[in-house]
Amino acid sequence: MGDFIQLLPDHVANQIAAGEVVQRPASVVKELLENSIDAGANSIKLIVKDGGKTLIQVVDNGKGMSPTDARMSFERHATSKIEKAEDLFQIRTKGFRGEALASIAAIAHVTMQTRPNEDELGTMIQVEGSKVIDQAATATPQGTSIVVKNLFYNIPARRNFLKSDKVELRHITDEFHRVALAHPQVEFRFYHNNGELFNLPSSNLKKRIVHIFGRKTNEKLVPLNEDTGVVAIEGFILKPEYAKKSRGEQFFFVNDRFIKNSYLHHAVVNAFEGLLREGTFPGYFIYLKTDPSTIDINIHPTKTEIKFEDEHSIYAILRSTIKHSLGQFNVAPALDFESDPNLQVPYSFKDRQAVAPGIKVDPTFNPFKSAIQQKGHGRLQKQNWESLYVGLADQSDAGGEEVIQSKISRDLFPQESPTDDLPVYTLQFRKKYILATIESGMVMIHQSRAHQRILYEQLLKQLTLKESLSQQLLFPIVIDLNPTELQLLKELKTSLEGFGFKFGNLGEDGVEITGIPPLVSEGDVGVVLDEILAKSNTDRGENFSQADGLAKVLCKTLAVKSGRELQPQDQLALVNDLFACKEAGRSPFQKPVFITISEKEIEKKFN
Ligand code: ADP
Ligand code: MG
Repeated sequence: MGDFIQLLPDHVANQIAAGEVVQRPASVVKELLENSIDAGANSIKLIVKDGGKTLIQVVDNGKGMSPTDARMSFERHATSKIEKAEDLFQIRTKGFRGEALASIAAIAHVTMQTRPNEDELGTMIQVEGSKVIDQAATATPQGTSIVVKNLFYNIPARRNFLKSDKVELRHITDEFHRVALAHPQVEFRFYHNNGELFNLPSSNLKKRIVHIFGRKTNEKLVPLNEDTGVVAIEGFILKPEYAKKSRGEQFFFVNDRFIKNSYLHHAVVNAFEGLLREGTFPGYFIYLKTDPSTIDINIHPTKTEIKFEDEHSIYAILRSTIKHSLGQFNVAPALDFESDPNLQVPYSFKDRQAVAPGIKVDPTFNPFKSAIQQKGHGRLQKQNWESLYVGLADQSDAGGEEVIQSKISRDLFPQESPTDDLPVYTLQFRKKYILATIESGMVMIHQSRAHQRILYEQLLKQLTLKESLSQQLLFPIVIDLNPTELQLLKELKTSLEGFGFKFGNLGEDGVEITGIPPLVSEGDVGVVLDEILAKSNTDRGENFSQADGLAKVLCKTLAVKSGRELQPQDQLALVNDLFACKEAGRSPFQKPVFITISEKEIEKKFN
């Protein structure tokens, strides 16, 4: 039998390798930008056409290459960055595999111009599908310029697989962000189809973040700073109230290399525990510095995953560093019930005259009694309550409210309360439930569902008002939206206006909000809209009765969550507000809101 095994020709081997390194235009951008960083450039220009499908060019002022190096750089496993196997454990550069240029040149038309500072003339090399077409001496500025045209021209399957220019550009932008964030001292410019997308001057980390993500980011950042023997941590986290529905701004860098690491991500999420709205993700820019010999960056071909020798310690240090910063910069206390404007409305009856406690007391009144007695009927008949939420609009009609106030005051000022009615005591259990005493025993209330019910009924009441209440914004808030979100917003606009949203310009990529419902605080508008659009999008086509659906999303977003500590007066207000609802027993999502335990049942247990 004959011999069949033969070595693959280089250009075939390169094409196969290319498949691993270059998945899409963004991979090329990443490799080229990293090479420029490795070459010590402090000014880098990225030029892209048609989402990188037509052209990607990176121009740097780094150390350049000699004619021989320029030629060698396109060979597979050609690298100036490591010489021997041991070097693999001391990697301080981005690249080291010597695969990128060879791979890119295997599947595109590449032209390089490069000149080291000490040479007068530079080198121009043209490579197409791994073949050197031309090499010549040329006059060129110090540094290197690499032009990559017609990516995947010889692999049609790959080329057809590329997404729209817009999507590819988004991937490129992501890579650009990662490199730019890892190297704030390096100046970057980024052009797409002749328009300038980013112009980032050399600066510090904070300014770099703000340059990329916008001026408003500045106030959202909380610094991190910790240096231990194992790891040094620097960077910023976004204040919890700016957490987003999407995982947008999450960046880990290890020794200036962007990485993904779900274990460390978990450490961050864990540190934020109890401070985030349900379904939102914390934003962070975290820079870890550790001895290169304690990490292994080699486990993934495109090198975004790395392994730490001492993962557990790093986890613990990271988590406590974040907790510390959240505490130190008053982020945690700022979320306290009292100072969260979002929560003030339902409890403190914002904008209403406070009623002196204990003046008007209805001694026969017991909200729990009536609510619980009527559980089976599903409706609360206590007329006193009816006026309460309309009262938001009608200041004069405060009859119901006084009863509530007096009910609260009974606890705060027990000496002023009538003797024959038991005072209500409340207790928060596991930051999730409120226990309250009632005449027949006690009631255990699910705090989050209760608040949802309260807000839901308030919101629906809003809708019935002729003129919806709206809080005019002094400075309109502009929110960026993608075309899908914009379309959705147009569909929901009228319903949203019913709740008190007011919209100004609806631009091509965003919307101007000029007024917001009284229940929503200014700082939350972004999150709230985000949530509405995300939810409405998934519910689309189903029976999403607009107004009701919106009320549900809103109440869910705005409601106090499990895990929030409630002050005694807020617990009591929640209890009172709940039993003023028409359907106190069920959340807007048809889940039970409270359970009762009678004194008899308790006594039985002690028999
Ligand atoms: P690696 O970065 O893994 O070494 P590459 O294929 O990306 O492999 O690059 C091969 C070599 O080409 C590098 O080691 C470096 O010496 C040289 N090189 C690539 N890009 C540049 C550049 N912009 N400036 C100077 N040298 C470069
Ligand atoms: Mg490289």
